[in-house]
Amino acid sequence: MNIHEYQAKNLLKEFGAPVPKGAVIYDIKEVLQKIKIFDTSNLVIKAQIHAGGRGKAGGIKLVKTNEDLIKETSNMFGKILITHQTGPQGKKVKRLYIEEASEIQKEFYLSCLVDRASSKIAFISSTEGGMEIEKVAKQNPEKIIKTKFELKDEIADHDFENIIKVFKLDSKQRNQAKKLINSIFNLLIQRDANLVEINPLIITKSANLCCLDAKISFDDNAMFRHPEILK
Ligand code: ADP
Ligand code: MG
Repeated sequence: MNIHEYQAKNLLKEFGAPVPKGAVIYDIKEVLQKIKIFDTSNLVIKAQIHAGGRGKAGGIKLVKTNEDLIKETSNMFGKILITHQTGPQGKKVKRLYIEEASEIQKEFYLSCLVDRASSKIAFISSTEGGMEIEKVAKQNPEKIIKTKFELKDEIADHDFENIIKVFKLDSKQRNQAKKLINSIFNLLIQRDANLVEINPLIITKSANLCCLDAKISFDDNAMFRHPEILK
């Protein structure tokens, strides 16, 4: 089972990970009320469907004025988005997520999953952010770093170093990355998830890490302890 991006980001936030400020919209009438939380009019409208590849399919729109925001949100509601993950019938957009636009310096890939075959925890990291990881695995397998370890309470320093080595971070970002990696790991374990994927994880123009897209999957066989996020 998958949850929507905004639900995944709420969970990440709860576990201490950096995510942009955002608001979920169920109806066009809510837009002007909900955007009062933002300090900027540079916003991104993101279609909430259970599929990736929204950017290329018209499911992500950057707007700079309230006028454009209203125009683009009304275009987006009810739209059928066809991405490489939806199949030819596409998926209808019933919810939108509006968030602050980030200024992107770099885009990376980071995920944490349960590797069933070896019963280990695996982190996957890559500098090829924003691309589908399966594609990177086919075209540039050397750009994918896998770090596997037995389930334990804390991530060892050498594993942490291996996860982040391709990112070439400065010391402030290393601290942020350590915190983020612990957040993702704790979320995976404590919420019985089998995948937490951040794609892209970005470095902003002001040199901070931020999770720009998030996917969390739950094992259908696992005991699901948190029904509130099913809503
Ligand atoms: P998908 O993976 O479904 O295409 P993403 O959330 O990864 O959707 O968005 C696609 C691209 O849109 C990102 O790689 C990024 O370049 C841009 N983007 C997404 N959210 C934001 C944001 N808040 N600010 C700026 N750019 C964004
Ligand atoms: Mg993405």
